[in-house]
Amino acid sequence: MNIPHLLLVEDEVKVAAFIKKGLERQNFTVEAAADGREGKALIDKNKYDLIILDVNLPYMDGIELCAHLRTRDTQTPVLMLTALGTTADKLAGFDVGVDDYLVKPFDFMELIARLKALLKRSANANEKSDLLHVSDLELDLAQKVARRGGQTITLTAREFDLLEYLMRNRGRVVSKVDIAENVWDIGFDTGTNFIEVYINYLRKKIDKDSPTKLIHTVVGMGYTIKEK
Ligand code: CA
Repeated sequence: MNIPHLLLVEDEVKVAAFIKKGLERQNFTVEAAADGREGKALIDKNKYDLIILDVNLPYMDGIELCAHLRTRDTQTPVLMLTALGTTADKLAGFDVGVDDYLVKPFDFMELIARLKALLKRSANANEKSDLLHVSDLELDLAQKVARRGGQTITLTAREFDLLEYLMRNRGRVVSKVDIAENVWDIGFDTGTNFIEVYINYLRKKIDKDSPTKLIHTVVGMGYTIKEK
């Protein structure tokens, strides 16, 4: 994993310095903001792997800051620090999309454990978004392979692009013109049957050995990928 880049918004100078120093010792890079306004400016300007927010801050509190972040970023994990630890506080935080809480004073190793758990969860979520599914067929956009029922299927670059296009439009019928334009990046030439040829390549690799066929021809319309 790359070195995690964190934002810490904490107005208590000593606490901020303690956390920043400790995290840097654990190989995190940390930017610190001393109040809500500064925190907001940094959130608007930069992308962080994780954000630590104190609840009580001058100008704009941690709850407002998190609500502001979530209007355009639902992914970045947020850990809230609070001296209060009351249920009302926690509920307000979870309402605006805080991922986890730590009550002050906290054990530093507890903070590290929470941060690592949040970073791992967010890395897993990112990985999963690189997968497309139709029934037991999975297309792995990162590794550029397909899997059917867990078996890896090797595709050529063009087969991969065609399958990706079909899967991104799963359940919809795409015409040969759509395919020619989006996969081959060319206007359709009625004199060629290359799309049918490639659909047949895909069928051999994807559907031939399975009782459930996923690639369907819709006569006069085009093709669709779906379970039935
Ligand atoms: Ca504070």
